[in-house]
Amino acid sequence: MSRLRLLETSEQPGEEKFQWSLRPTKLTDYIGQRDLLVRLDISIKAAVKRGEPIDHILLYGPPGLGKTTLAHIISNEMSSNIICTSGPVIERSGDLMGILTNLQYADVLFIDEIHRLPRTVEEFLYSAMEDFKIDFIVDKGPFAKTIKVNIKHFTLVGATTRAGLLSSPLRDRFGILHHVDFYTPGELCEIIKRSSNLLNVAIDERGALEIAGRSRGTPRIANRLLRRVRDYADVLGSGKIDYEIALKSLELEGIDSQGLDKIDIAYLKTIIDKYKGGPVGIDAVAATLNEEVDILQDMVEPYLLKIGYLNRSPSGRKVTHSALQHLGYDVSRFL
Ligand code: ADP
Repeated sequence: MSRLRLLETSEQPGEEKFQWSLRPTKLTDYIGQRDLLVRLDISIKAAVKRGEPIDHILLYGPPGLGKTTLAHIISNEMSSNIICTSGPVIERSGDLMGILTNLQYADVLFIDEIHRLPRTVEEFLYSAMEDFKIDFIVDKGPFAKTIKVNIKHFTLVGATTRAGLLSSPLRDRFGILHHVDFYTPGELCEIIKRSSNLLNVAIDERGALEIAGRSRGTPRIANRLLRRVRDYADVLGSGKIDYEIALKSLELEGIDSQGLDKIDIAYLKTIIDKYKGGPVGIDAVAATLNEEVDILQDMVEPYLLKIGYLNRSPSGRKVTHSALQHLGYDVSRFL
């Protein structure tokens, strides 16, 4: 199964520059996530007033919803530096020690996929986050000594798709925890219009709404679809994006009216055709599809759960009547 699907929520190769150019840089440019923005705005204003860094922040939610963008906005609003790294890159406490000792006062340290930090590194973070001190071990074996080293007061912004995998001591050390949720079609429509403006592409309301409705609640996908529709409009239309152009190009890309692509449909049909609609364990579905469990859990399931096409329970995954109806099955066969 191709990893490079159009609706992939992680960044695709060669896409970084494009997505980067569309990133909002100020809180006022960030669309949606109102509750979080209100809390952040207050925290940032209070911190700036007191001349202090803001509390550590944990953002959790599916990929492509703007967690990295927010970390950059926070450092921008605080006029501080941002240092970006990710859980899988930091293999030993020594790797993190180098980063922490180089931080300046009020810098933002962004750790993406923080749930993938090795446990020893995670434990090393506790005192760094709480007391701004780290344990530096000198010498080995019986001569080993621990020296406490002070580091500058910094803000850790952690991002994760799986908050449940973080240990509770780590979770407890964040002052602000926020679930970044899928965007509404209205919010995505605004994001698409803003991006079109930055890209100098003419788009009307219905064209933007059509792309929004098929972006599975995710800004990264909305921007990617906009790029495809723009190509289509340039080659087969007048360059302007309207409803017809958006509809035709997205149908050509194999994205249906609910934003489902071939992988989502294969996932749902596997459960329906091979496991009588479920419940079935995720491992069995992944094996049948020859796909990794993590990919299904991070990229496919969250949106299907969100739109009510899938139920998850201790006994496994089960497709819902709405999913059966959407895919044209006779629901009575599954009662
Ligand atoms: P995450 O870190 O959650 O995977 P990103 O911060 O990398 O997501 O966001 C992906 C892309 O989506 C960004 O390049 C940005 O252009 C766009 N984006 C995300 N959230 C917003 C938003 N609230 N408003 C406008 N654009 C957004």
